[in-house]
Amino acid sequence: MIDLDTLLADLRRRNPSARITAQRRLVLEALLSDIKGHHTCEDVTRMVQARGVTLDQSTVYRILQWLKAYGVVSQTDLGMGSDVYCLVAGEPHHHLICLACGAIIDVDDTIFASLRRTLKLAYRFDPRIEHFAIFGTCEKCKPHDDEDEHLNDMS
Ligand SMILES: [Zn+2]
Ligand SMILES: [Zn+2]
Repeated sequence: MIDLDTLLADLRRRNPSARITAQRRLVLEALLSDIKGHHTCEDVTRMVQARGVTLDQSTVYRILQWLKAYGVVSQTDLGMGSDVYCLVAGEPHHHLICLACGAIIDVDDTIFASLRRTLKLAYRFDPRIEHFAIFGTCEKCKPHDDEDEHLNDMS
């Protein structure tokens, strides 16, 4: 289980001159309190305020962007209107999101291994695929071509 000290050590390793202000620490603590959750900037602001600290949403937004720049936090559009933020700690996970019914299907990180490799080799680009969302159509919602074929078979 990841804790605040581990996160801060990781942050300092990436950015030796990182200034860990009390506000930045509070945002990290809020994210750590629900490490598996997807939190909008508004959620994080509420979580920080629940700790009795007054931080406005624009300050929280700037802190989340700062944490994102150092690879501590991911920012993802899950099609919910507001981007969600997650701590990048442990095994990454990703999502398939159905545009028709809104179903969210979790995807294992191993599926992105070859994509990472290709981007590094072919584009000399080091991708941060930390919390990826792919939009499309789920099995339930896709057009019923297959079923029509079955019906034809039976007639
Ligand atoms: Zn997720
Ligand atoms: Zn669907």
